[in-house]
Amino acid sequence: MKKPYLVYLSRVFVVLILVLSLIACGKTDKPCEHEWRDATCEKPKTCSKCGATDGNALGHRWADATCTSPKTCTVCSATEGEAIGHKWIEANCTTPKTCTVCNATEGEALGHVIPDYVVKVEATCTTEGVREGTCAVCGETVTERVPATGEHEYSEWTVTAEATCSEVGSRERVCATCGETFTEAIPATGEHDFSEWKESAEATCTQVGSRERVCSVCGKTETETIEKLPHTDDNTWVVTKSPTFSASGERETHCSVCGQVVQKETFDLSMEEKNAIKKAESYLEFMAFSRSGLIGQLEFEGFSKEVATTAVDSLVVDWNEQAAKKAQSYLDFMSFSKSGLIDQLIFEGFTREQAEYGVKAVGY
Ligand SMILES: [Zn+2]
Ligand SMILES: [Zn+2]
Ligand SMILES: [Zn+2]
Ligand SMILES: [Zn+2]
Ligand SMILES: [Zn+2]
Ligand SMILES: [Zn+2]
Ligand SMILES: [Zn+2]
Repeated sequence: MKKPYLVYLSRVFVVLILVLSLIACGKTDKPCEHEWRDATCEKPKTCSKCGATDGNALGHRWADATCTSPKTCTVCSATEGEAIGHKWIEANCTTPKTCTVCNATEGEALGHVIPDYVVKVEATCTTEGVREGTCAVCGETVTERVPATGEHEYSEWTVTAEATCSEVGSRERVCATCGETFTEAIPATGEHDFSEWKESAEATCTQVGSRERVCSVCGKTETETIEKLPHTDDNTWVVTKSPTFSASGERETHCSVCGQVVQKETFDLSMEEKNAIKKAESYLEFMAFSRSGLIGQLEFEGFSKEVATTAVDSLVVDWNEQAAKKAQSYLDFMSFSKSGLIDQLIFEGFTREQAEYGVKAVGY
């Protein structure tokens, strides 16, 4: 009897010490102002400062294991054990490998094995056909659609509008099976039916001409340039610079239509011309002459008209002065009226102007 009493006493003592120590603790420190964390599946409500707890842990809420997932807590996702795994049925003609529990599948259905088909409806260019066959594996009768061939049975082309030089034509053909009409464009030929060329502007030696032709079908006009004509050489040399004993002269021919220079060249005096010039100069030294009078004198000497003319024209002669000298020489041995003297000078080959100048120079 003594022993249980002592045990009891010692327990009371321990409790007493605890209570006293708690009281003492409460007197020296402030009590904990708890900061509670909510209870979880595995832990009760707990103070984050002092670790004190209140109540019990909530405990997991288990969802059963499935084919692919182990037993799992719906609150904290904790797991226990393993997934169960699928219960497969092998694939057949129409169904892939399938789980009898969750209906998950893997791979493809094997498909029927059909050795022979019977055509029920023939496919055409535009309509589907139908065929039937029996599966050698499962014995099922399978009906399949056969796609349209798209291959029309065309007729020959029929031209519905002839193409012209400038306009497209068209042609069509018909499918004997489906009756559809197919139309196609025929490109324009571009081959115009032109008229003869007709001159619309005459070409000259200075301007190009043009000519036209017109398509009798579409009216298209084509224009072409006609080259300039060549100049017409008059083959008449005109001296533009007279030659002298020391320098060449220049001469040119012209186009008889437009007057443009056609040929141009330099030339020198011939020996005959040089002699004619010397002769003319010697005449002028002791006598006055008109231009035509001097040419005539040289012709009289036996020079040709051309040579005589060239020789006289290559000299630098003041014909007015010659007229004055001539007038004086007449007056030296005969009397003349003014008009008589003028007539005489004109008779000698002077122009009226030269004659009047000469007559005035000698005092009339
Ligand atoms: Zn606390
Ligand atoms: Zn849990
Ligand atoms: Zn499953
Ligand atoms: Zn089958
Ligand atoms: Zn067709
Ligand atoms: Zn045309
Ligand atoms: Zn010309």
